[in-house]
Amino acid sequence: MKAVVYNGPRDVSVTEVPDARIEDPNDIVVRVTSTNICGSDLHMYEGRTSFEPGRSLGHENMGEVVETGPGVSKVKVGDYVVLPFNIACGFCKQCERGLTNYCLTMQPEPALAGAAYGFAEMGPYAGGQAEYLRVPYGDFNALRLGEDAAARQNDYVMLADIFPTGYHATEMAGVKPGDQTVVFGAGPVGLMAAYSAVLKGAGRVWVADHHEDRLELAEQVGAIPIDTREQDPAEVVKEATLGLGADNGCECVGYQAHDPQGEEDAALTLNQLVDSVRFTGRIGVVGVFLPEDPGGKKAQNALEAKGKVPFDYGLMWFKGQAMGTGQAPVKRYNRALRDLIAGGVAEPSFLVSQELPLDRAPEAYEKFDAREPGWTKVVLHPGS
Ligand code: NAD
Ligand code: ZN
Repeated sequence: MKAVVYNGPRDVSVTEVPDARIEDPNDIVVRVTSTNICGSDLHMYEGRTSFEPGRSLGHENMGEVVETGPGVSKVKVGDYVVLPFNIACGFCKQCERGLTNYCLTMQPEPALAGAAYGFAEMGPYAGGQAEYLRVPYGDFNALRLGEDAAARQNDYVMLADIFPTGYHATEMAGVKPGDQTVVFGAGPVGLMAAYSAVLKGAGRVWVADHHEDRLELAEQVGAIPIDTREQDPAEVVKEATLGLGADNGCECVGYQAHDPQGEEDAALTLNQLVDSVRFTGRIGVVGVFLPEDPGGKKAQNALEAKGKVPFDYGLMWFKGQAMGTGQAPVKRYNRALRDLIAGGVAEPSFLVSQELPLDRAPEAYEKFDAREPGWTKVVLHPGS
């Protein structure tokens, strides 16, 4: 079968790989119909991780079940399912607490956090930017969709990661009806955080970024755009809130934060968020910050020094703020979010900018990585 394979920094190709197959009795095999390129894929694409050449990418997947193992009872051949990017067993100590993002069965290495499809340091699992995907513990890891699944793939595929992840940012930030919320980053994740805040009834939502086309999408969902090339986000928010700051904020950029001139400063958005949010306000950080030394490799320069960022923790402490961090436990939210989509309340497909066949993945990676205008969220359709 064909899959998007990582060959080295900024080099992916669509290559023949061994077919996905049932390996354990609880597995299912899914014919992938939609699979997105994510900002998280870019950490690997840019060569910032220990992702090995030859491995396939893709953790935002949906499709049709084509085979089930003998231990699978709920999910049936022919079901359309969306697959949370966290791969989890459902019965370990962490899964029982609802922490499928830190499953101990699928990621037995206690120093590493959880498992995912096609991901560095998150287990050996193949990616779904491929014709077929093996899904372990299929009954637990596949969310079944309704009859509109095939027709509304661009909405439902967002349940694999970015819709629940954006929602998780607002949960960690404690966004409530009427709140004033500031979101850093108008990439797909930031847009989903802003969209979630609006769905929750936030009174005012700001979104900061320096990409005009992405800020336009933020405006489209009812947020106030802040173009960081022209305005300092913390000043804009404080000015609008009598100097106090927003009730809460979401970080949806991560350690690759940079100023509009392109100068990287991994703690820029964290510092600006603490400045933008009021005393005792909450902040949800879903933007990725990798540990300094994930693979026993010493950082050679500022770009590689991911873990120890120059963050003004003192100001956060002084302001009595709280911060939630980490990967989203997708399964916690995606049933409810699925039903918002099914009921016509949520339409996360508004951010899809391209739908392409799998063969065009190399071009899509290049354009998305360069944040070319008009390349916000690419959905690949294998087999199209
Ligand atoms: P992305 O990288 O395209 O989006 C990031 C956006 O941040 C870009 O539009 C960029 O212009 C903007 N940005 C850069 N510097 C900024 C600054 N100083 N101020 C404001 N905006 C700035 O892609 P994405 O898919 O939206 O991913 C965003 C982050 O979320 C990545 O770190 C990704 O790995 C992470 N992520 C986390 C989870 C999770 O479970 N926690 C899941 C998915 C993605
Ligand atoms: Zn993702």
